[in-house]
Amino acid sequence: MTQMTQTPRGLLFVISAASGTGKTTLAERLVQILPNLRMSRSYTSRPARAGEREGVDYNFVSRDTFEAMMARGEFMEWADVFGNLYGTSRQDTERLLASGQDVVLTIDVQGVFQVKALGIDHTGIFILPPSFDVLERRLRGRSADSEASIQQRLRTACREVFHYAEYDYVVINDQLEPTVVRLQEIIAAERSRTHRMTPIALDIIRTFKQ
Ligand code: 5GP
Repeated sequence: MTQMTQTPRGLLFVISAASGTGKTTLAERLVQILPNLRMSRSYTSRPARAGEREGVDYNFVSRDTFEAMMARGEFMEWADVFGNLYGTSRQDTERLLASGQDVVLTIDVQGVFQVKALGIDHTGIFILPPSFDVLERRLRGRSADSEASIQQRLRTACREVFHYAEYDYVVINDQLEPTVVRLQEIIAAERSRTHRMTPIALDIIRTFKQ
């Protein structure tokens, strides 16, 4: 009889992109399609925008609550983005990974530096828009932000795009569906890496007896 190995730990995927590139939409599509993939809901001190729901888009907390959580070391990573605090709960993410779920985080480049510095095993994916002009059109098109905020997001994008080379994969988000397919391919490739397949491969290989 074969002895099945215990549930392997899930994989951590970290997606970054300039605001307006579409990374949240992409991540949401991915978790709809891939049953073993979950998003870790970030905490933020930013007030909810119209249509955003507590516990769905973010865990919305006061700045004081956020800072208290920071002081207790509850964040795996956190960053000040456009004057608001954003962070990933260490416990929420760890619980998902330990239960064998793959997790996707959509976080800014500062957050990814912290994940790297902590030596946390992850796959980094940087998403680029097809061009600066397309990004500007998308930001204006979603009409969620003031002109000052759009300008700030574009300035930040001009700085952050240079960090693409520090990620494992780069994907251009030209059209949603082909980009979702490309991301699925990356996830499939990462799941198939030899060292991750070893426990399953060994279970199968044990059945090969002559
Ligand atoms: P928004 O306010 O438009 O939802 O997000 C602004 C920026 O904050 C985006 O670049 C988004 O990726 C980033 N962000 C969202 N959640 C987190 C988080 O938990 N950690 C970090 N470092 N950045 C985050």
